[in-house]
Amino acid sequence: MRSPILDYLDTLISETDHISSGEPADYIPELAAADPDKVAVALCTVNGTVYASGDADHQFSIQSMSKPFAYALAIEDQGLERVRDLIGVEPSGEAFNELSLDPETGKPRNPMINAGAIATHALIASEGQSRVERVLKFFGSLSGRTIEIDEAVASSELATGDRNLGLAYLLHSSGQLAGDPQESVTGYIRQCAASVTVSDLALMAATLANGGVQPRTGERLLCRESTRHLLSVMASCGMYDAAGDWLTGVGIPAKSGVAGGIIGVLPGQVGVAVFSPRLDGHGNSVRGVEMMQRLSEDLGLHLMEAS
Ligand code: GLN
Repeated sequence: MRSPILDYLDTLISETDHISSGEPADYIPELAAADPDKVAVALCTVNGTVYASGDADHQFSIQSMSKPFAYALAIEDQGLERVRDLIGVEPSGEAFNELSLDPETGKPRNPMINAGAIATHALIASEGQSRVERVLKFFGSLSGRTIEIDEAVASSELATGDRNLGLAYLLHSSGQLAGDPQESVTGYIRQCAASVTVSDLALMAATLANGGVQPRTGERLLCRESTRHLLSVMASCGMYDAAGDWLTGVGIPAKSGVAGGIIGVLPGQVGVAVFSPRLDGHGNSVRGVEMMQRLSEDLGLHLMEAS
């Protein structure tokens, strides 16, 4: 028998696919070529059951949704204290690519904006392989599938990555970057170009919802404390300068990416992922935000709702 959850997800797509405002990101030329009408949603329970609808097999680059997972890896490798020494946990209230560090501490304000994510990437231990290989393997364990880089997206961003290079040199000059600026940016950009589907992302998010244990394999990929810390940072900083609107309206820890994906995590319950390439002024998917808002309302996901 067909699950009512699948019917619900089909309805969610059909009720939001008329929304055509916003534009795909164009500061990375390859992303501007995305089909703007692609749309998908997936949900994964902490038991590992995935429900998906729309263009659920369509692959797109993970972009900033890689940031929370890379941050978790850096914490596992270096310990929370060392990571906290270099990267803050305060919402910036600024755009994701703002050229700024906290004036008092000289640190990036949090790991969800580019400054913090570049510093994070440099903290991942390479363990005899490149950092990017390590990150890809980690994404593979989280999603249960081999994850590869979309080389066209990676080279397109590498060719236009001056702003991220500027950020890396700024970090380096204030002693907040553990690696070489060029190498850190190249690694960070390749990390962002990992190619995923909404089903992959729902499983990755469900691993966070499940306290760090991949729901299908039962493998503990992150310790409970890092997972809790990371989800707290996603809740306060994951949606950049729209973080307050998001927490009040949708009410779950989330992270968006400029290719049009958004993941959300309801601890102990479910991981969700949506995709649609047209973005609003904050760099968040317009249809994606609408789908997440409806999911939160219809399924009662808001964390602050008394049950
Ligand atoms: N790779 C992108 C960048 O650094 C990620 C930004 C995003 O998804 N918000 O600009």
